[in-house]
Amino acid sequence: MEIISVAVNGAYGRMGREVCRAILQEESTELVGAFDLHGLGQNLGDVLGKPGLEITIKELTREVLEKIKPAVLVDFTTPMAVIQNIEIALQCGVRPVVGTTGITHIDLLNITQWVEKSGLSAVIAPNFALGAVLMMKFASMAVRYFPQVEIIELHHDKKIDAPSGTALKTAEMIASERLKDPPEKDDLLKLPGARGALQDKIHIHSIRLNGLVAHQEVIFGGPGQTLTIRHDSFDRSSFMPGVILAVKKVPKLKGLVYGLENLIEFLA
Ligand code: NAP
Repeated sequence: MEIISVAVNGAYGRMGREVCRAILQEESTELVGAFDLHGLGQNLGDVLGKPGLEITIKELTREVLEKIKPAVLVDFTTPMAVIQNIEIALQCGVRPVVGTTGITHIDLLNITQWVEKSGLSAVIAPNFALGAVLMMKFASMAVRYFPQVEIIELHHDKKIDAPSGTALKTAEMIASERLKDPPEKDDLLKLPGARGALQDKIHIHSIRLNGLVAHQEVIFGGPGQTLTIRHDSFDRSSFMPGVILAVKKVPKLKGLVYGLENLIEFLA
């Protein structure tokens, strides 16, 4: 069996720790490096409560990455850091698997070029949970029958970006399948922002509350009825099968793959 060597960037964070555990648990992957700006110099084994695991948490630099030279760098950091991290990985001949959200359309165009120039491959997925990917797929099917649609996304209060990457991707997928736009309407706003943000002519409402993890409702309206498609991630373990799938597939891919749905054959 081929073993894929993996380093995790953001390893001290909420998602990063979970990813490290999942990589350690998976037979065909080996955890060889851990990067973060927090916990520098600490042993990852102590952070994860895994005696015997000796990996020192370091800051990601070209020099360190070239030394460790993993096959794959998984990134769950911040919107401010992720673009540079991807650039560093590709320059070092390492394939990025990215879950960090807040990546813009323009960023994606640049990254596509970098990946092509490097001759490598990369995966970026705003949501690695299978249920969320199905929610997006079902929503893009439903819009053919219900062109009027709004999105409510709900996340924990530590999330930096709004709207979520999943909500933006959902709006993009819905817009690409919508046969006709709903009629334009000027709302009389008594307070700015009352109708949420607008992406691809779809209103997106973002809720941030302690106690939540990652949730989204896509609500369609039609005469005398509504259809609600809802997904809930109650635990970060929901993202791990998707991350592991991307890590296993990325060495065999060409170019940039954006969205987990493009890695799951029956959905593509
Ligand atoms: P988190 O707990 O804040 O973890 C991010 C970690 O990365 C923090 O320790 C952060 O340090 C560190 N970091 C920041 N800049 C860095 C850099 N340049 N190099 C290395 N490490 C750096 O956040 P989280 O909840 O794990 O979420 C991480 C990202 O994943 C977010 O963008 C979130 O939206 C996304 N996410 C994606 C999915 C998906 O399925 N795709 C699912 C859940 C979350 P500081 O605190 O100093 O910034």
